[in-house]
Amino acid sequence: MTAAQVINITKVETSKLNDLSLENIPFGRYFSDHMLEADYENGEWKNVEIKPYQPLLFDPSLAAFHYGQAIFEGIKAYKSESGEAFIFRPYDNFRRFNVSAERMCMPTVPEEIFIEGMRQLIEIDKNWIPARKDHSLYIRPFMISTDTMLGVKPSETYKFMIILSPTGPYYATPMKINVEERFTRAAPGGVGFSKNAGNYGGSMKAAREANKQGYDQVLWTDAVEHKWLQEVGMMNVFFLVNGVALTPSLEEGTILQGVTRDSVITLLKEAGIPVEERRISIDELITAYKAGQLQEVFGTGTAATIAYIKELKYKDEVMTFDTDSWKTAPFLRKQLGEIRESAIPDTHNWMFKI
Ligand SMILES: *Cc1c(COP(=O)(O)O)cnc(C)c1O
Repeated sequence: MTAAQVINITKVETSKLNDLSLENIPFGRYFSDHMLEADYENGEWKNVEIKPYQPLLFDPSLAAFHYGQAIFEGIKAYKSESGEAFIFRPYDNFRRFNVSAERMCMPTVPEEIFIEGMRQLIEIDKNWIPARKDHSLYIRPFMISTDTMLGVKPSETYKFMIILSPTGPYYATPMKINVEERFTRAAPGGVGFSKNAGNYGGSMKAAREANKQGYDQVLWTDAVEHKWLQEVGMMNVFFLVNGVALTPSLEEGTILQGVTRDSVITLLKEAGIPVEERRISIDELITAYKAGQLQEVFGTGTAATIAYIKELKYKDEVMTFDTDSWKTAPFLRKQLGEIRESAIPDTHNWMFKI
């Protein structure tokens, strides 16, 4: 670590935990006692600090407010039965964060700040990891551009931060999904593979229209033909067809390279279930459904882990599933849960010990 990257630490006097129960806490509403902050100026990272969680003060001309150079990550920390703290695959998120940074013309963040800063922050706020089943501490690293001037060009200064939010079980009831054929999330050559803020602002209208029709989310399709399947909200998607797990491939750069997606592919292959990463059209799914071969449909992501999809609607075609009879998605949910809670051996080295 260079001298500039020594992490200065200022601790709170009294913890907010004295007044808060971590049981069944809703997602993303409460934040731990401390946060990490670092600034990028003159081509280098400086002022790396862990300090009490607090508001920021910014000039109204702040570049991030206007032109969207803003990226983030989502990671979870867990406590084992014996009380040890672990982060799930943080190096994968670290690499992906820097892929997003590169795409958005932002500086990359070094490991000494992203990983080591996260480790120290969680060490300090360890008591904020709920020690209950299906509970975790959600970690939100993010970076924004901080130049104060209105020219449309990459900023010269940036702020990187990490905040922590304890969370209870996520929305676990099976979802109803509408296959989107009007709005577009990502096109080849675009920014679909990066976790940048604008992708999410741009996707809200489609989700809201789906909500009005009684659907929880949309399954995005490609921008040109609206028939090649991409992903669901903040989740990658898997289809079990005749014993084979299908998931859209990453090649076109239009979907997020999910860490949960990668974990699920690994676990499926180990369980002897073939996995095909390739283009999948809605027509292929409908044909499989009519032949009685579309067995399971589920989403994968850090927040929800494995989310069952009980209904898929495309135009007038409604495909429904009896999730109670499923074997594969429940197996994956159980397996991932046990790895994260250190109930079974971590043979892939996915758990990073604090
Ligand atoms: C974050 C995200 C995912 C899931 O990625 P994980 O690493 O598994 O959490 C999938 N799709 C989108 C659009 C996302 O933003």
